[in-house]
Amino acid sequence: MNVVMRCLDNSAIPISNDKLVNKNDTAKCGISYCQIICYICRKVYYYMSLLVVGSMAFDALETPFGKVDRIIGGSATYVAWAASNFHEPIKAVSIVGGDFPQEEITQLENRGVDFEGVEVVKDGKSFFWSGRYHLDMNTRDTLVTDLNVLAQFNPQIPESYKESEFLMLGNLVPAVQISVINQMKKRPKLIVMDTMNFWMATAMDDLKKVLTMVDVLMVNDSEARELSGEYSLVKAAQKIQAMGPKYLIIKKGEHGALLFYGKQVFFAPALPLEEVFDPTGAGDTFAGGFIGHIARTKDISFENMKTGIIVGSAMASFCVEKFGPTRLKEISQEDIENRIEEFVDLVNFDISLV
Ligand code: AMP
Repeated sequence: MNVVMRCLDNSAIPISNDKLVNKNDTAKCGISYCQIICYICRKVYYYMSLLVVGSMAFDALETPFGKVDRIIGGSATYVAWAASNFHEPIKAVSIVGGDFPQEEITQLENRGVDFEGVEVVKDGKSFFWSGRYHLDMNTRDTLVTDLNVLAQFNPQIPESYKESEFLMLGNLVPAVQISVINQMKKRPKLIVMDTMNFWMATAMDDLKKVLTMVDVLMVNDSEARELSGEYSLVKAAQKIQAMGPKYLIIKKGEHGALLFYGKQVFFAPALPLEEVFDPTGAGDTFAGGFIGHIARTKDISFENMKTGIIVGSAMASFCVEKFGPTRLKEISQEDIENRIEEFVDLVNFDISLV
């Protein structure tokens, strides 16, 4: 497609295949969204920014298939890798220690991820998490959570981030999630939030507060049960929606994901895979695919969220194929399109009742 992106000051930014040629072009203009004009159909698109907040970490992982003592992880890392297949620029907010490899930052920058909002504490240590999976990889034991620099994180959101249209609050200290929302100049079109049982045990009051401020909550089934005190996921969804978020996504690992909106429910299966090597980051990758799709299409309807769930599920199915984010770094647009097709084939059937 022959398109030219124009900033609001009317300067042109060349893009090819719907992607920015030079990521710095957006940073320079300092405006959170730009116009894209298609010279063939003359349609004007707005290029809106996506703000991603979360941890950037080192993980130690043990699965039935192998062990790794130190690999890059963190919720923002996975979200950014997944979402960058669908949307640029991505504005990241996180904190790392001086031990976080520059190489990893450069790789993400080359994918259109802006690090202006990522604080580097030179003499500090990055967040460290360690987990062990058993043969049933739907459950895991957390062995270590060393917050390190995350314990002192007080993000200062850069001016150029403050009008972002889409906000993905990855799993992080709930007080930090609140602080980010409060620093936005205007409320984003959609705020999606992920969290986990760790914060339910250590920061429930803040967690309940941030729930009143977001549109979509993503949790897994055991977290939904813990948060609501209900075993039935339908009852749990009703209780959680009453706490604030209009939309609730419940992830069920290899059993797919549910989307609740009022009385409506949508279900998407997970792709049956021959091998699941390491499920770490699958939830965050799902979130990245979901929000990346929503930000690209700029459509926050329930119908489009259903597609977002399929896209998220497709991305998560790649993540589990290798340790950490390794597989996410390898895949191409063609791989993604083929995988989404596999999903469509998996759930598509004709039925005629006589
Ligand atoms: P997931 O498997 O999608 O739940 O994501 C796992 C990632 O979340 C790992 O890379 C961890 O570094 C990160 N993580 C684990 N616990 C926390 C926590 N309490 N806060 C923020 N990030 C975390």
